[in-house]
Amino acid sequence: MMRSLRLVLALLIAIVSPAAYAQQPAPQVAFTFDDLPAHGPLPPGEFRPDPIRSIIKTLKTQHMPPVYGFVNGFRTAEYPYQTELLRNWTASGNPLGSHTWSHPALDQTSAKKYIANIAGNEPLLREVDPHGDWHWFRYPYLEEGNTRAKRVAVRDYLTAHGYKTAEVTIDFEDYLWNEPYARCRAKHDAAAVASLETSYLDVAGEYVGVFRTLSQQLYGHDIPYVLLLHVGAFDAHMLPRLIALFRSQGFEFVTLQKAESDPAYAFDPNIGYPSGGTLQELTSSIRKVNFPDNTKPYKELDSMCR
Ligand SMILES: [Zn+2]
Repeated sequence: MMRSLRLVLALLIAIVSPAAYAQQPAPQVAFTFDDLPAHGPLPPGEFRPDPIRSIIKTLKTQHMPPVYGFVNGFRTAEYPYQTELLRNWTASGNPLGSHTWSHPALDQTSAKKYIANIAGNEPLLREVDPHGDWHWFRYPYLEEGNTRAKRVAVRDYLTAHGYKTAEVTIDFEDYLWNEPYARCRAKHDAAAVASLETSYLDVAGEYVGVFRTLSQQLYGHDIPYVLLLHVGAFDAHMLPRLIALFRSQGFEFVTLQKAESDPAYAFDPNIGYPSGGTLQELTSSIRKVNFPDNTKPYKELDSMCR
């Protein structure tokens, strides 16, 4: 009885709304955060634990799936109390991954030193997340090797040690807003803070569009995206509105593992790529596809509240 009822309903829906069957599946995105346990300057009255605790709270109240946070352990050597923030992250059900020990730029260092820096982050990750799936690696500055030899050396090490690369497929350089936010708050300039809020969401929206366009050009459809964010004070401040922006475009939120199970992530561009870039940027370079037009208010952000 239930089955035939369902069939009748399905037929009715198909007759009333044939477009429903032609619709694309909802786009998907995995949010990720870099630079745990500390990123960027803080506005007056905020303390180091505040952004991470705020982010954890928002992820919970917004019912987000587990969200990866990528760790630079060197901060905990300087400020041991910050280890507790990493424990707060895992205790809230969110996993940790590695972002190297001290955030070196692969373009500026040798593969050998870089690999030692990755290995140096492991004792801390083992300590704070003994049972977690922390063998996910996010390259600082998205620099995967300015030469092919460096790229291959680091990737070979990662593979041999059970790491998967936490690729990025949407990046709007969210971190650019954290410094002007701290300056504008220090000057009690509410109008400037409001304009930062507007430009952050405008640029995020523009770049979601840019990366969706690029995805259409490269793959013919939306891939499940991986969004790069940082644990800065302004990121924490804007997170509820950023999640709402993705919701307004019909996005579903998925884990990093789920997003990267898509075949697009199995492709290795296998090129030296100076200054780093997202997976689609490297892939588009191989396939001779131009990056869509885009703008970012670098000068305006840099000059605000000086
Ligand atoms: Zn970083």
